[in-house]
Amino acid sequence: MPINVAIDGPAGAGKSTVSKAVAAKLGFIYADTGALYRAVAYAVNSKGIKACDKEKVINELESITPELRFTGGLQHVFVNGEDVSDKIRTSEISMEASAVSAIPEVREFLFGLQKKIARENNIIMDGRDIGTVVLPGADVKIFLTAAAEERAERRYKELSGKPGCPSFEDILSDIKTRDYNDMNRSIAPLRQAEDAVLADTTEMDFQTVVSMVLSIIKEKTGAESIG
Ligand code: C5P
Repeated sequence: MPINVAIDGPAGAGKSTVSKAVAAKLGFIYADTGALYRAVAYAVNSKGIKACDKEKVINELESITPELRFTGGLQHVFVNGEDVSDKIRTSEISMEASAVSAIPEVREFLFGLQKKIARENNIIMDGRDIGTVVLPGADVKIFLTAAAEERAERRYKELSGKPGCPSFEDILSDIKTRDYNDMNRSIAPLRQAEDAVLADTTEMDFQTVVSMVLSIIKEKTGAESIG
C-alpha cells in the first residue's frame, strides 16, 4: 500500500514549498491539488466564462480534461493536453479558483483524479480538504497554518521584483478573502481534520518546518529521507 500524506491549510501557509521539499527528501510524489482547481478556472476563463456563472462552469466541465503529470517527482498541470503550470499562477486565477472550488460539481469532477493519484503513489498531497474528504484514511495528516499577515509577507517576498507584483495590502486582502471563501463554503470547507497534527508556522523558518514534517511522517509511517 502506498503511503499517503495529507497536508491541508489556508492560502500561503507554505504548503506547496514544504510539501515539495519533503517529497523530494522521501522520494515521494508531490501533488498540489489547488493546481487542479486553478486549471478548471483557467479553462473556463479562457472561454470567457467567469467562475460566478455557475451553470456555465458546470456545462463546461465535460469539455475539460485536467491532468497532473509528474517528472522527477515534480508536478506539471495540463488542461486538454496544454501545459498550464505557469499560466495558472496569476492573482486573477487564484480568486477564480477559489470561486469554482465552491461549486459541488467541480469538486466531484476532480475527486476521482485525486483519489487515483493517491492510490498509485507514495504521495504528499496538499490542498484544503485532503485529510477531511479526499483521503480521510491518509497515513499522516498535517494542518499547516500561519497568521494571515505572515502568509502575505511570505508571498510578497516571493513575488517582489517580478513583473506585475501586487502590493502587500492587495496580497493580504486576497488571502483574507480566500480564507473566508474556503472556510465558509458549504461543501468541503477548509478545516482541520480531527486526527490531523496542527502546525502553526508563524514563528518558524522553512527548514524547521520541513524537519518537523519529516519527523511527523517518520514517526507515523517509518518513512525516512533517502538522501
Ligand atoms: O492551493 P491553491 O491556493 O493553489 O488553491 C487555489 C484554490 O483552490 C484555493 O483558494 C481553494 O479555494 C481551492 N482548493 C480547494 N481544495 C483543494 C485545493 C484547493 O478548494 N483541495
